[in-house]
Amino acid sequence: MIQISLPATGDEEWQALAGPLGSGWLTQGPNVAAFERAFAERHGVPHAIATTSCTTGLHLILAAMGIGPGDEVILPAFTWVATANVVLYCGAKVVFADVDPRTFNIAPDAVAAAVTERTRAVIAVHLFGLCADMEAIRAAAPGIPIIEDAACAAGASYHGVPAGGLGVAAAFSFHPRKSITTGEGGMVTTSDAGLAEHMQMLRNHGASISEEQRHAGPRPYLLPDFNLLGFNYRMTDLQGAIGLVQLSKLDRFIGERNAAAQRYKEALADLAWVRTPSVPANCTHAWQAFTCYIDPSMAPMPRNRIMERLQDMGVSTRPGTHAVHMLGYYRQRYGLNPDDFPGARKCDAHSMAIPLHNRMTGEDYETVIRALLSLG
Ligand SMILES: *Cc1c(COP(=O)(O)O)cnc(C)c1O
Repeated sequence: MIQISLPATGDEEWQALAGPLGSGWLTQGPNVAAFERAFAERHGVPHAIATTSCTTGLHLILAAMGIGPGDEVILPAFTWVATANVVLYCGAKVVFADVDPRTFNIAPDAVAAAVTERTRAVIAVHLFGLCADMEAIRAAAPGIPIIEDAACAAGASYHGVPAGGLGVAAAFSFHPRKSITTGEGGMVTTSDAGLAEHMQMLRNHGASISEEQRHAGPRPYLLPDFNLLGFNYRMTDLQGAIGLVQLSKLDRFIGERNAAAQRYKEALADLAWVRTPSVPANCTHAWQAFTCYIDPSMAPMPRNRIMERLQDMGVSTRPGTHAVHMLGYYRQRYGLNPDDFPGARKCDAHSMAIPLHNRMTGEDYETVIRALLSLG
């Protein structure tokens, strides 16, 4: 079976664990700090703050921005459910905006239509590694802070600017399904020093000093003061050590993924029913996934049948992600109908990600291509 995705770790990650395991410093420490510095540098931002996941990273951003009851946050209706959940963790209201099935990203005109006087932020998702159209979103929501859900977008760029530096703050994911991984894990980036400091405190229960400062200092009686209601969203130093190694491979991983994506696009160009991802000018795609749109008017059979046939041929596939407004919790909470966001509904029904990762061989790619071509 050719997997849809597999993490690519090797001997270097294994070796990197020897440091923290040997020293006994297992929670957030020197390896996390080094990972944060390297991540910030790679993404061209002054501040990076490691977290336990992208979900907790997004929550940290919203909490630090003071978003709460009575506030509205606009986000795409086609995304991973976490993008919406974090808004509810803060007691604010989720306002969905439809997506453009050509890019799978939030449609700027839908953002414009969703803005009210209660709108406190827009979460722009860079789905599958393609940056959302930030300039158009900014124009659609003038003066409203834009947060990047950059879960899939480590190493992506928009008009020459890396993801992570395109809005007020961004959150990345290191879940094994993303291109670099720490098992679970996330990273928040921002250029706003005040916001960064606030998020650093909130990550550690709202503590006024870090564990490292406490351990390194001369006053053994010192415990931090807690002036804020915070969380424990600290990354372990084991994850930090692995993350540092993975980050050093990011550009190679993206290069390999880009080569594979070009190969797919060429080989599948004549299959009229498979619309492969198009990359708008001035964007570099990070290829977290290769998600196609199966045109129902031309496909030889329904998408789900195509997915079953591919599975029988040893090729695993997945729907791109889901239309969150159609998930039971959101549907019931906000009384939504599938047709409220027709773009998202279409993406939910017709998207199909095919295998793309850094452990696939040339022969694996040939197998996937042959299997697709055999269907029609
Ligand atoms: C994976 C993903 C997340 C969640 O990331 P975690 O690190 O698992 O919390 C959020 N948003 C999008 C768009 C994702 O793809």
